[in-house]
Amino acid sequence: MSYIIEFEIAALGLELMLLVIYCIRNNFPCATNKYYFAMLSCGIIATSFSLISVYTLAHICDLPLWINYFTNMVYLFSYNGAALLFFFYVLHVTNDEKTIQQGKIFFYTGSVIVTFLIATTPITGWIINFKNNTYNHGSLFVILYIISVCMLLGVLVLFVKFKYKLDKMQAFSIMGLDIATIGVVILQEFFKSLLIQNFVISLFFVLVYFSLQNPDDYIDKTANCFNSSAFYETAGIYLKRKSTFCIIAFTLDDFQSINRLLGIQTGDEVINTIAAYLQGLFGKLRVYHLTGCRYAIIIDTKTTLSADEVIDVINVYFSEPYKVNDMEIPLTPCFCVLDYPIFDFTTEDINDVLEYSFHEMKQNRDITVITATDDALKEKRRELKIIDIMKRAIRNESFQVYYQPIYNIKTGTFTSAEALIRLFDDELGFISPDEFIPMAEENGMIIKIGELVFRNVCRFLKENDTKKLRLEYVEINLSAIQCMQDNLSAQLTEIMYEYGISASSLNFEITETANSLNEYALRKNMRDLINKGASFSMDDYGTGFATANYLITLPMSIVKIDKSILWPAMKNAEALIILRHTVKMLKALNKMIVVEGVETENMRDLLIEMGVDYLQGYLYSKPVPEDRFIQFLTDAAV
Ligand code: C2E
Ligand code: CA
Ligand code: CA
Repeated sequence: MSYIIEFEIAALGLELMLLVIYCIRNNFPCATNKYYFAMLSCGIIATSFSLISVYTLAHICDLPLWINYFTNMVYLFSYNGAALLFFFYVLHVTNDEKTIQQGKIFFYTGSVIVTFLIATTPITGWIINFKNNTYNHGSLFVILYIISVCMLLGVLVLFVKFKYKLDKMQAFSIMGLDIATIGVVILQEFFKSLLIQNFVISLFFVLVYFSLQNPDDYIDKTANCFNSSAFYETAGIYLKRKSTFCIIAFTLDDFQSINRLLGIQTGDEVINTIAAYLQGLFGKLRVYHLTGCRYAIIIDTKTTLSADEVIDVINVYFSEPYKVNDMEIPLTPCFCVLDYPIFDFTTEDINDVLEYSFHEMKQNRDITVITATDDALKEKRRELKIIDIMKRAIRNESFQVYYQPIYNIKTGTFTSAEALIRLFDDELGFISPDEFIPMAEENGMIIKIGELVFRNVCRFLKENDTKKLRLEYVEINLSAIQCMQDNLSAQLTEIMYEYGISASSLNFEITETANSLNEYALRKNMRDLINKGASFSMDDYGTGFATANYLITLPMSIVKIDKSILWPAMKNAEALIILRHTVKMLKALNKMIVVEGVETENMRDLLIEMGVDYLQGYLYSKPVPEDRFIQFLTDAAV
């Protein structure tokens, strides 16, 4: 028989062209990419051997028989292999673990039968034979058809089940390839000499490549290397295989200064240069650009470098200031190492761990490497949980406010109290404000929380005749973030009016950080509130650095000496000197003095002897809920 081979030649050209495009592009080695590559390779082999067998069959009498067996068997292997791989490929496109496991059984069963039948055909003649020096289909050839059709029907089932995951183009190319393959097999039966099936299939290879492969999904355009999707997918592959590997992620401290000083375009160029450098060092497949100035390197610790070696190499690169446009900008890499399985994590954990570690390093600039541990992960989880609890508490207004009485030495009564926020959760129990206030400050929730506390205090003052119980004012903690708001005083005044509270029954405690953030806003807020009759305290005196200047320039009537100044003074002579002189200095500046953390009678006696004005501490009372506070004041008043 003479065959029409022009279509086969065109198919081969098309498939080879696709292979070249595939190879020059940065293809991320994920499952679908690998199986597409395998499918395309099978297609190329099938088309090539289809052409070769046209020749060998034409010369069947002149060539040894094994040559025809060989060419036709390779053709059948690769042709049927492509059909099997098409199913396997679509199976992985579904990205559904359970379906993949079930589909694998189907795939492997088909593969074993096909391999067995084709491999044994020279002996059995079941698939093909060359009786009478002609090419004949054996008695079981139909099984190859049946298996291919089963695979294509399998694709159809997957298509129907996971259609929602595909866009129009993807759906068209999958269904197109499926139907076209069945169609050309039938066509071939009618027009035996027209070799067209590989051509039709190759056309759909092109469609599938451009609709499903989406090579750009895994590439970061700025850095021109693999992106975070590729990163998480690779980490997932390692984790699934349970092989030892290590993630070394790093961020560049001070990178923002490049964007700020030289513009975002230059910043992007630097991102790109660094990525290229890392790729040169560790290979293209190991380098990922996550976001901003964050990179990650994934290494197989069994076969390649250790994490320490990677860190050393990167540190050497950044040891000199970075030179851009004649400027020298020092960049410090901060590393987070996730060493599997020493640290047992999941892909979902990675982001939490990185966030936590980079945040820790931002807070503490002396640390530049953090090796992730379960504890760090637990801490991050706890933080996320607490943020959630805070959100809920804001929604339900379920924060509570406790009051801690403050003893006035001159009058011998409790003339003030500090309002302290309380948060309870069914699962975590009592959560200390020392833990959640900094989180609320960081994500801005403190504004809402501060307002809730303030409303709570105003309501308390409105509902209780506290003046009768000799309470003159309540001290409220204002966070530095609150003091930065230009409209803070206006907001607080509005709430005071709403409850009919006089500003003179309020004292605001601020710390020196408030002044460092937005001095102008702070002074304006203080002035407004003082004009209305409120007063201010400087909290945590003795824990900061530059307190002296603020003492002179800010209109504070009270200074609260921190417990970290009082407690050591009870044990150590030098600390006692500091406390004495602190009190003396504050008195000379005409400040009223509160000392916090008064727990024993010794402390009380010492402080009274020194001449401070107010005492606050467990000796008198712990912070207590409203009703107990009223009871406390009632008892103290008689
Ligand atoms: P702070 O302003 O220094 O509050 C005093 C802290 O010392 C309170 O802790 C209080 O319970 C504790 N304390 C008082 N006397 C003693 C004592 O004799 N012994 C001991 N061991 N501790 C004593 P608390 O209530 O856990 O609050 C911790 C911090 O949380 C506060 O420190 C304050 O910075 C912040 N905070 C509390 N409530 C609020 C609030 O409503 N707004 C803001 N922005 N911060 C708040
Ligand atoms: Ca305070
Ligand atoms: Ca304090």
